[in-house]
Amino acid sequence: MASMENIKKENDYILEVRNLKKYYPLSRFSLGKSRAYVKAVDDVSFKIKRGTTMGLVGESGCGKTTVGRSILRLHDITGGQVIFDGQDLAKIPPSKLRKMRPQMQMIFQDPYSSLSPRMPVGEIIGEAVKEHKIVPKSEYRSHILKVMRDCGLQPQYFYRYPHEFSGGQRQRISIARAVALKPKFIICDEPLSALDVSIQAQIINLMKDLQERYGYTYLFISHDLSVVEYISDTIGVMYLGSMVEIGDKKRIFDNPMHPYTKALLSAVPISDPDVKMNRIILSGDIPSPVNPPSGCKFRTRCQHCMDICSREVPKLKEYEEGHMVACHLYSQD
Ligand code: SF4
Repeated sequence: MASMENIKKENDYILEVRNLKKYYPLSRFSLGKSRAYVKAVDDVSFKIKRGTTMGLVGESGCGKTTVGRSILRLHDITGGQVIFDGQDLAKIPPSKLRKMRPQMQMIFQDPYSSLSPRMPVGEIIGEAVKEHKIVPKSEYRSHILKVMRDCGLQPQYFYRYPHEFSGGQRQRISIARAVALKPKFIICDEPLSALDVSIQAQIINLMKDLQERYGYTYLFISHDLSVVEYISDTIGVMYLGSMVEIGDKKRIFDNPMHPYTKALLSAVPISDPDVKMNRIILSGDIPSPVNPPSGCKFRTRCQHCMDICSREVPKLKEYEEGHMVACHLYSQD
């Protein structure tokens, strides 16, 4: 029988992704030919603790966004499991999944295209609140106004339209729309990349503030490691559809182990002009996910590539508490 201690530990995690796969077929099956797939996400596993933020980083096209969309079941997955709040989402009937939807929200990269231009702000924020009956009818307006206040939006914006706002304010509207549903978990897909740097700082501070007040759990998808360092508790590094390193923020930044993580971190600007940057330049482009290299997918760009790297896929193994790496430079036993 599972001990109380173990049950409590498992309950600490709001999300567990197990061996997630998402393949996109490229061509129709024809006799005698095997079907080709883009392996956008290939056997990815991780857990996120309640009330914390996990940053998911990697170059564009590495599968970060597909992981986020697969978790929310915005498309079918090819394999693996997504356990949210103790429930396997694949086993939940559609009617129950629909009821759970408000608990899992997403904030998108481009706030302008994700907001309906024909709806005033109050309606944009409140549309799903009404549909899912998040608050009684009598409390609807006060709930929306409170959420707007929490997100730094003035009450008179209720009747204004998205085109009347700046990029930063539009992202505040997107955040308000997500948090109005009283979610437990929010996927933030590059929420700052369309904004000026000064506005980015305001939005990220808003997100941190909301997390402290309401205990949200975030999966923060970004290619910007300085932003991820600021907001995350744990960090996962993806390359060509696979997780190559995962661990506590401090361990990843103080002691990056995977050559790809080292290269990404070496490109993060340092504010001290006396500290010399030792940038590791990656040669070549990311290989095609249709026909990835055998063994370690990073081997075609890795300075440390060995014979074994083309023969065997390195396993993601824990080398210190809370720090896992997939690389043959470290013992695979
Ligand atoms: Fe480089 Fe080999 Fe490690 Fe891959 S497994 S990152 S090729 S050393």
